[in-house]
Amino acid sequence: MRCRRCRAAAVVEVRRHNAAFCRPCFLHHVREQVRRAIALHDLIRPEDRVLVAVSGGKDSLALWDLLLELGYRADGLYLGLGIGDYSARSGQVARAFARSRGAALVEVDLARDYGFDVPTAGRRGSRSTCAVCGLSKRYVFNRAALEGGYDVIATGHNLDDEAATLLGNTLRWQTEYMARQSPLLPAEPGFVRKVKPLYRVSELETAAYAFLRGIDYVVEECPLVAGNTQLRYKQALNQLEQTSPGTKAQFLLGYLERAATLFAAEDRSQLRPCERCGQPTPGRFCAFCRARAQVLGEPLAPVSDREIAGESSEEVLAAEVYGPAAVGGRHP
Ligand code: AMP
Ligand code: ZN
Repeated sequence: MRCRRCRAAAVVEVRRHNAAFCRPCFLHHVREQVRRAIALHDLIRPEDRVLVAVSGGKDSLALWDLLLELGYRADGLYLGLGIGDYSARSGQVARAFARSRGAALVEVDLARDYGFDVPTAGRRGSRSTCAVCGLSKRYVFNRAALEGGYDVIATGHNLDDEAATLLGNTLRWQTEYMARQSPLLPAEPGFVRKVKPLYRVSELETAAYAFLRGIDYVVEECPLVAGNTQLRYKQALNQLEQTSPGTKAQFLLGYLERAATLFAAEDRSQLRPCERCGQPTPGRFCAFCRARAQVLGEPLAPVSDREIAGESSEEVLAAEVYGPAAVGGRHP
């Protein structure tokens, strides 16, 4: 096989584009896909301070590498989830990458900074492990970006991730989620802009990119994710892709171009600050603070009330606020 651009010996085949590339031309191809994504949706401006959420996996490290290569001011954010060896190794890999590029890495640790880890939350709370993990990531990414004065948070969601999410949302017609499925979520009061610059790059391509750039990344999946539905949607799409290359891209990119605007996003004007942490929420307390209080068995009082009343106040617990698991739990 010959490279489509320069006719040298090819090292990567991209069936969806019916093309093969040599190493330099493949790296160029991926950079162009990202440049195009950024330009099409105005994801990142040259003067922006970008916070790249890096899990230690191939996608987010490839993204950080790409944004630095493209000349953006991009720092990393690593969130320690406390998932045993998997998290320990992920943190090491993220730190090593930051050192090798002379880039700054912001670190947040769920256990150290918020008093619980993901496995504990999965066991004690009412949400599934993956749900509480996703909730914690969204919360911490936004808060870290706000506190660090960043303009935008970038995540490593790739074409396969986004297509699988879209399939899941479509199968259940979760139109409110579909409305918010976009490579760009603009900033709103209390929310930093969120972008997914790899949405046009497949998982195979990000893996090849990371490999060819010599990026050391954690290969294994999260040990808690085994059998999760997202993974099954990915497998189903890969089966279709095998016999009809390009299906995944048509599904996702066609949706974004032609259908996404048909779904109206929920009105977020009714949000107000969480009484506990200040992050925007439709209720008194944000979902993260509710989940955290439930896991820790703590009363969910506003910070100011607790300062006045002291930690040992005799509060009445409301099941609808705390969730049933916390009622009768380790309440001081
Ligand atoms: P996931 O939720 O595991 O599918 O990951 C989606 C994206 O979230 C990744 O591409 C990263 O950008 C980001 N991410 C996932 N886990 C972490 C983590 N522990 N710390 C920082 N960012 C993460
Ligand atoms: Zn809160």
